[in-house]
Amino acid sequence: MTTCKGSVAEIESFGLTDGPGIRTVVFLNGCMLRCRYCHNPEMQERQPDNITPDEIVKKVLRNKPYFKRGGGVTFSGGEPLLQPLLLLETCKKLHQEGVHIALDTAGIGLGRYDEILQNVDLVLLDIKHITPDGYQEITSKAYLDRFLEFTKALNQSKKPVWIRQVVVPEVHDSKQYMRDLAQFLRTHLENVERVDFLPYHKLGSDKYAKLGRISPYQDKPPMDPKLCDELYRYFCQHYPC
Ligand code: SF4
Repeated sequence: MTTCKGSVAEIESFGLTDGPGIRTVVFLNGCMLRCRYCHNPEMQERQPDNITPDEIVKKVLRNKPYFKRGGGVTFSGGEPLLQPLLLLETCKKLHQEGVHIALDTAGIGLGRYDEILQNVDLVLLDIKHITPDGYQEITSKAYLDRFLEFTKALNQSKKPVWIRQVVVPEVHDSKQYMRDLAQFLRTHLENVERVDFLPYHKLGSDKYAKLGRISPYQDKPPMDPKLCDELYRYFCQHYPC
């Protein structure tokens, strides 16, 4: 395989929320979506290439002693699937070193999904919305069909999946949405090991200001965590949690 370069925004050493155990999180630059709730807007634009797979592997392996209890590396962003060569080459090298690999993705990339999925151990999959209109409302893109293409490859791969649903007031916070989400997961996704709800928060707002942008949800209130928990319990009545 030819050595490539790619664009990485940041490598975080002690991630505790992006998969099992203690994880090194590699944030790749670039994303085609423009989620209104995005809290990493500085990673939406693709930046110049700045790193090779070998350089990423070297940085990750420094943290290997902390991976003992189920930890490993998580590729996040931005959207890691938009840099398939960098992702593939790095994953192959990390697997040779016995590192557990999670892919944190919205499922909108440039293809080569089968090959990529063969080289990861766990997929953390963001659900933006389950209807075409809702998907467009959240992401400003009509890409629900493209997302479903990824779910087909994911099902074929048989890799375990952790679902992540950001719950936004007036968009996802209804019992109807909970029932429909349960049906959507039953219909489109196999191998789901867990489902997490993440209440919409406003911690990324300052980042928009620093970029000279206005947060698309600047007037949207944060999601009440208690209500989010109640909705999660209701959801679990319709889908095994
Ligand atoms: S998919 Fe993730 S990185 Fe891309 S815009 Fe949405 S929240 Fe931000």
